[in-house]
Amino acid sequence: MTYQNYSLKQLQHIDAAHHLHPFTDHKELRAAGSRIITRAEGPFIYDLEGAEILDGMAGLWCVNVGYGRDELADAAYRQMKELPYYNSFFKCSTPTPVLLSKRLAEIAPKGIDQVFYGSSGSEANDTALRLVRHYWALEGKPEKNRIISRQNAYHGSTVAGTSLGGMEPMHQQLGGAVPNIVHVMMPYAYELALPGESDHDFGLRAARAVEDAILEAGADKVAAFIGEPVMGAGGVKIPPASYWPEVERICRKYDVLLMLDEVITGYGRTGEWFAATTYGISPDTITTAKALTSGYQPLSALLVGDRIARTLVEKSGEFNHGYTYSGHPVACAVALANLDIIEKEGLVERVKTDTGPYFAQALQEQIAGKGLVGEVRSVGLMGAIEIVKDKATKERFEGNGKAAVVVRDHAIANGMMLRATGDTMILSPPLIWTRATIDMACERIAKALDLAE
Ligand code: PLP
Repeated sequence: MTYQNYSLKQLQHIDAAHHLHPFTDHKELRAAGSRIITRAEGPFIYDLEGAEILDGMAGLWCVNVGYGRDELADAAYRQMKELPYYNSFFKCSTPTPVLLSKRLAEIAPKGIDQVFYGSSGSEANDTALRLVRHYWALEGKPEKNRIISRQNAYHGSTVAGTSLGGMEPMHQQLGGAVPNIVHVMMPYAYELALPGESDHDFGLRAARAVEDAILEAGADKVAAFIGEPVMGAGGVKIPPASYWPEVERICRKYDVLLMLDEVITGYGRTGEWFAATTYGISPDTITTAKALTSGYQPLSALLVGDRIARTLVEKSGEFNHGYTYSGHPVACAVALANLDIIEKEGLVERVKTDTGPYFAQALQEQIAGKGLVGEVRSVGLMGAIEIVKDKATKERFEGNGKAAVVVRDHAIANGMMLRATGDTMILSPPLIWTRATIDMACERIAKALDLAE
């Protein structure tokens, strides 16, 4: 029986009765009922009642090539017919993860040539955590195992992902984090810069919080620093240009590994294949997922730098870690087809030279002046709109994000999907957006802001 045999009310009822959703207040969900999305095409999603909504979030930061791509469906179909599953354990391999690994080594920043697969960003970060600690143990320094992360960071929702992340409400429900992970300040100038402090100086100060944490523990106790190049779920917090080079300098000075979480920023979002290039840094690991397959299949790839890989290969016996679906042949086939599309259509270059700059300009010209907007910011096709009660003082509305939810609901009713996190409206659209799509989005968001005022 297919869903077409059910009415919206029936599906909502079954959903509420049997389906526990991620990051959801189920009492609220029961009262409101889910929006049931049934199909999608290009930049648009469609709900059960036929409403067409422009997807400003690329699903969940992942559908970079847009919806309805036959090439990806065909790649999955062909692979499923030929070999739906076999593993990469016990000295076996299948062709698609082999070829994908080569491809990823070609597009990864220099010095990164090895890949470890999982099915989600959380799993990839779990792998990264285990790998860097294993690395230092193999180097004869097992006590060099502390990880420095940042407040408000999001690194996934498994126990390791939550522990690496710096989201207080998640930690409160964890009942005990993975030990020896500390969190330092985030590089968010709009809220944390001191009066009169320049962006440049603030970026250096935020980076030096990493140095303080290293000195406090002792460099011989610190394995790595992990960060999202641009904090995503934490509200598209874009660091000043001075931040990442200074973090890298500090990591190198104290021989602390640099781990980037590019689950959101990877595969073109910031106008380069990886944001490591956008910010001019050379990490030791890069966690990727989401847009690797444009969300058409679950797949993550942890890109591992030569320094760690060399030690792992030369000094390790077995790395006691892996997942049934590591290097899943169908997911890897879809990833290869997805990278083909990104390359063939020049989407990374387009974000860098055309749509990214146009998006920044459109946000400034069409959104920044609205009464409720304290700040707009973007990098590539990743942006945020900060909702405030008072533009001059940056005072927020009461109700911890309720004002942003009102704007979001007006936006959706007006055919525009975007996300509210705290007081921040987030945009992370498919990279196929054109200037015309950006204009359409800004027009709908502007209207939502007017209605909410
Ligand atoms: N890391 C970052 C930066 C993310 O944004 C996310 C998810 O949004 C994750 C990790 C976790 O990925 P997943 O939800 O695939 O486990």
